[in-house]
Amino acid sequence: MTIGVLAVQGAFIEHEHRMEQLGARTVELRCAEDLNQPLDGLILPGGESTAMGKLLRELGMLDTLREKIRAGLPVFGTCAGLLLLAEDMENDSRRHIATMHITACRNAYGRQLGSFFTCAPFADAGNIPMTFIRAPYIASVGEGTEVLATVDGRIVAARQDMQLVTAFHPELGDSTAVHQYFLSMVREHLANGAA
Ligand code: GLN
Repeated sequence: MTIGVLAVQGAFIEHEHRMEQLGARTVELRCAEDLNQPLDGLILPGGESTAMGKLLRELGMLDTLREKIRAGLPVFGTCAGLLLLAEDMENDSRRHIATMHITACRNAYGRQLGSFFTCAPFADAGNIPMTFIRAPYIASVGEGTEVLATVDGRIVAARQDMQLVTAFHPELGDSTAVHQYFLSMVREHLANGAA
């Protein structure tokens, strides 16, 4: 399995390590040509969504990424990656890849209390560590989107078909549950005949 990790900005190395730890090959996606190679999945890391969105436009990567995701390529967005995938944001007029039926709230935990750590259940994996860094949350999900985790009543992980998002940074904790969940999506996609 080859997972492309968007590497134009943000916390991509930790995702690469996590994927390699689980036996998947990773390639860094830094320019439009990097998107021409065969990929089985995509990771959009945390960082700063406005900067990432701007770079994706300047590098000519945004439309290709959107097409691949619309065509069903499995994608996992964390934090800023979630904001890139959100169809709507409550407090930001920018839209980036915008393929997922979620409304996100950016920097939703305030500036001073922007970072915190907690443990909460994720999908059927039980309690996992969750690190939040100036994180968004998901204010609402649209049709066909499944809620996978909530913290204090707020949605912090969701899935729609082959798109997975977390508001927290699972690459920073010592649990591999979310990355394993993503790899099971990739396997499901490959088993359904994806090239
Ligand atoms: N606050 C950042 C944004 O709005 C996201 C933070 C993160 O990815 N850790 O893009």
